Amino acid sequence: MKGPLILFLLLLSLTSAHAGSFSITQLKDNIYKFSNGTHHSVFAVTEEGIALTDPLSREAAIWLKQALKTRFAQPVRYVIYSHNHPAHVYGGEIFAEPGVSFIAHRWARDDLLATKADTQIPNLVFNDEMSLYLGGTQIDLRYHGPNNGKGSISINFPQQGVLHVVDWVVLGRMPYKNLPGYDIRGMINSTRDVLEMNFDILVGGHADSGDKDDVRFYLSYLEQLHAAVLEGMLEGKSLKTLQQQIRLDQFQSLKMYEAWLPLNIEGVYHDLLDQSYLHLRSE
Ligand SMILES: [Zn+2]
Repeated sequence: MKGPLILFLLLLSLTSAHAGSFSITQLKDNIYKFSNGTHHSVFAVTEEGIALTDPLSREAAIWLKQALKTRFAQPVRYVIYSHNHPAHVYGGEIFAEPGVSFIAHRWARDDLLATKADTQIPNLVFNDEMSLYLGGTQIDLRYHGPNNGKGSISINFPQQGVLHVVDWVVLGRMPYKNLPGYDIRGMINSTRDVLEMNFDILVGGHADSGDKDDVRFYLSYLEQLHAAVLEGMLEGKSLKTLQQQIRLDQFQSLKMYEAWLPLNIEGVYHDLLDQSYLHLRSE
């Protein structure tokens, strides 16, 4: 019996070394967080099955499928995509089986189809809101308008007070570099919308989780960043001047503050050119 035992232990250590960046954390009651390094999603375990959000990657999905099987012994019933970006929704095909529904905002599905995305294409879509009821757990999905990506939604578990938002609310860290693909005023509007909702904890698709005060702090950063860049542009200042002059030091506690502030300024600057054509205004 020694041979098989050694082989088993060897396989076990190989598996765990390989899966080092994946983890599951209980958030509240039957709601859990799934992490793949710096990427997070959430899931609900009920007696009628499991509702997952983003699979995160093919490799992550393979790990998660096995972990759910060993830990919870419930079938996956729903996979909900937060938006269209591959680093969040790839790996969906791992959960594609009869009896599993894939849900997304209509524009996330459209984009995945149009760009020939290599993941499971959703078979259920919505425009504004959709609610799911699985084994006594309510899940509210809502579209808040454009912000980042296509068809980005919030995923709310009102009974547990857990809200999940990916990419357009980031807590404890600066928004990503030069804000690629971000609609900055859309992010501000969507975040204001989220603050009207009831929740105790917001779980971000990146960085930290936090409460409403953390979300207010983040919103305040976006508002002040946008206002400072807009004001400078209306005064005719160049991007370089804005990057030298704008300081928002009350937000110094955010991770990557020093490194990414000039990039965030650049992101808002280009957004104001791309969306509002500020350069075409007459003097
Ligand atoms: Zn992301």
